[in-house]
This record gives sequence, C-alpha cells and structure tokens, in this order.
Amino acid sequence: MAGPTAVGKGTVAAYVREHYPEVWLSVSATTRTPRPGEVDGLHYHFVDGVEFDRLERQGQLLESAVVHGSARYGTPRGPVEAALAQRRPALLEIDLQGARQVRAAMPDALFVFLAPPSWDDLVHRLAGRGTETAQERATRLDTARTELAAADEFDVVIINDDVVRATEELVSLMVDPHPAKES
Ligand code: 5GP
Repeated sequence: MAGPTAVGKGTVAAYVREHYPEVWLSVSATTRTPRPGEVDGLHYHFVDGVEFDRLERQGQLLESAVVHGSARYGTPRGPVEAALAQRRPALLEIDLQGARQVRAAMPDALFVFLAPPSWDDLVHRLAGRGTETAQERATRLDTARTELAAADEFDVVIINDDVVRATEELVSLMVDPHPAKES
C-alpha cells in the first residue's frame, strides 16, 4: 500500500494491526527520529545511517528510498519472506519509489493506492496533524503531488473517506487475493 503523505496510511495500518491480527504488518527500518508515541520495533525499527548502510550493503532490504528528501526508509526482506512462506497476508506501507522496487522484485504482489477524497482534504489533514514544520509540510505536499499522479500505476485505488471502510476494503483484497490480477 502506498499513497500520499497524510492520506491516513498510518491510521489504516494501525486499524489493521488492532482489528486484523491475521494480517502481518511489515516493520520498516528508518533513519528518522521517532514521533511521540512511536515504539521502536512496533511502528519502525529506528536506526542510524551507519546501521541503514549495513542493512543495504548486506542485501537485507527488499526496497529502500529517501522519502521527503530527508530520512531513509526500507523494508527488511527476511520477515516479509517468512510471512509469505507461512502464507500470511502481508502488508507493506511504503512510498511510491519503494512500491516500484517491490513491483520489480515481486510482480505478483497486489499494489494498492490509498487516495484522499480531495486535494483540499489532504492539505487539511497534513496541517491538522501538526507534526511537521511549515517547510516540511511544503516538501511533503510537493511529494504528494507527484505521488497522486502515479495512482494509475496501481492495481487498485482505495479512497480513504472513512478509515473503517477503507481498511475493510483493503483487508478484503488481501484475504481474497488478487481479484484484479486474475484475468
Ligand atoms: P512517516 O515518516 O510519515 O512515518 O513516513 C513517511 C513516508 O515513508 C510514508 O509515505 C511512508 O509510506 C514511507 N515509508 C515508510 N516505511 C517505508 C519503507 O519501508 N520503504 C519506503 N520506500 N517507504 C516507506
């Protein structure tokens, strides 16, 4: 699953974590600093640049990207492979660059784009979150513009008009996998 900044990917992921224990959620490595309430090992593996370099060099990341021009993010490969080997539905919440890398590495994956009901809605959500400076918000909205333009690359677009509804739609696709890819 990908989608622009502040569209609610984190909220959807949190809802999945709480209500759908059968779904395995990937925990990304990142060099950004934790936000209040974020738990190391649960929301992210918070690592420094040296450790991130090591993970990349040793081929331990399925994909990785610099997001919003600052922090680095990557999906640890081993846990994804272990979840898939157990035939668990696996959810990766990543950015567009990462999704493109996973598409190349795992073409059978289902690519879901979480979209806001409107551009204004996205701007309001980002401002309402209050976790970024004005400069950071401007950078994130720039990235969001590019990401929204890439929605067509995805197998499915889910509008996040309501977190419960959007999450149910997402999980139904994972439990009944790949309806969009069977033809
Ligand atoms: P945040 O800093 O707000 O938690 O996340 C910023 C962006 O990084 C979001 O768009 C999120 O989807 C993306 N992201 C989180 N983890 C990963 C990852 O492992 N790989 C990639 N490519 N992007 C990620």
